[in-house]
Amino acid sequence: MKNKKLGLTTQIFIGLIAGAITGVILNYLVPASTFKEEFIVGGVLYVIGQGFIRLMQMLVVPLVFCSLVCGSMSIGDTKKLGDVGARTLIFYLFTTALAITVALSVGNLIDPGVGLNMNAIQTGSSVASAEPTSVADTLLNIIPTNIFQGLADGTMLQIIFFALIIGVILAKLGERVETVANFFTQFNDIMMEMTMMVMKVAPLGVFCLIAKTFASLGFDAFIPMLKYMFAVLLALAVQCFVVYLGLLKVLTGLNPIIFFKNFFPVMAFAFSTATSNATIPLSIDTLAKKMGVSKKISSFTIPLGATINMDGTAIMQGVAVVFAAQAFGIHLDMMDYITVIGTATLASIGTAGIPSVGLITLTMVFNAVGLPVEAIALIMGIDRILDMTRTAVNITGDAVCTTIVAHQNNAIDRERFYKKHVKE
Ligand code: ASP
Repeated sequence: MKNKKLGLTTQIFIGLIAGAITGVILNYLVPASTFKEEFIVGGVLYVIGQGFIRLMQMLVVPLVFCSLVCGSMSIGDTKKLGDVGARTLIFYLFTTALAITVALSVGNLIDPGVGLNMNAIQTGSSVASAEPTSVADTLLNIIPTNIFQGLADGTMLQIIFFALIIGVILAKLGERVETVANFFTQFNDIMMEMTMMVMKVAPLGVFCLIAKTFASLGFDAFIPMLKYMFAVLLALAVQCFVVYLGLLKVLTGLNPIIFFKNFFPVMAFAFSTATSNATIPLSIDTLAKKMGVSKKISSFTIPLGATINMDGTAIMQGVAVVFAAQAFGIHLDMMDYITVIGTATLASIGTAGIPSVGLITLTMVFNAVGLPVEAIALIMGIDRILDMTRTAVNITGDAVCTTIVAHQNNAIDRERFYKKHVKE
């Protein structure tokens, strides 16, 4: 692939490296002066970096709202598929919740944010000191008393709650509310387009955010970033090669190694595009041709999975929560972790299968437990490679679930699964 124009991934990567170098130079080589502190670091870098974060935040409420309405609308349709729909849904939610648990455990094992004092950096907003609320109130707060206030305040759980109900009703009323359903679908498209536009300025945003971080923290920022990356990759590997492999073996008796061998090209495709949506046709085709999974099942479960089942994304979000909490010295208790599991599961439903959206829905997970979104600045610089990897895991989760559901419905040609596949 030889493009004259550099791809976005390359541009973001260049932004990251250039930002780190600039930051280190500013920190170690440029003598302290008002010009450096107030004009460069606290001025230009701060304004552009924060501007980029604000652009991302601007997307969150409308993007999550529309995406969830559309997602739950398609879940509403699952009634048509009855048993298969319900099983698929339960399996999707279960694997996602499991994925976040894996991520939180790996995160706490590796402690990616320890040693990084983000409070040293001047941030746009003060660190939210979460008022302790009782379990009962936390649960009650999910139900909005005024949805417009919920939307205005960006209270994610309330927004999610309301959006899910709207989606289910839209699916139930069908043609009678077609106009509104179309409105949400089209508005969803607009939000995705807007996301793409915002991502175009990501290289510059990343440059400024990273430069400012390194200018303030110097080399102290390196190790935590590498540790964060390692923790995400490790948790992704555990999900893929322990959770999925185990589930396949136990629930279908099929040889998981053969599964991964056959499915590898789809994973490679997802990796290179970082787009679950784009892999839908290839995934359905591979499952049918190489593994004998009936298209009757996969043509429903794979697109649904690409829309609502993002285990890889949930993993990144789980590790990011641990990273940010440690970097800002915020203590998370058991209730916070349960909130994270719940919100990240919903965030995964609300994450569109296109590049970088997981980072945007991450802000909603952070908001749910009062973590400052500034931590996303650091994560963003190295997110592209993680986005590619997690997308491969996202679609593998869909395929594993599809294979299990197909097995339970006698819709797998086992002979084909074990057949040696010469080039097809
Ligand atoms: N790129 C991911 C996907 O398409 C979504 C994300 O996590 O950003 O599956």
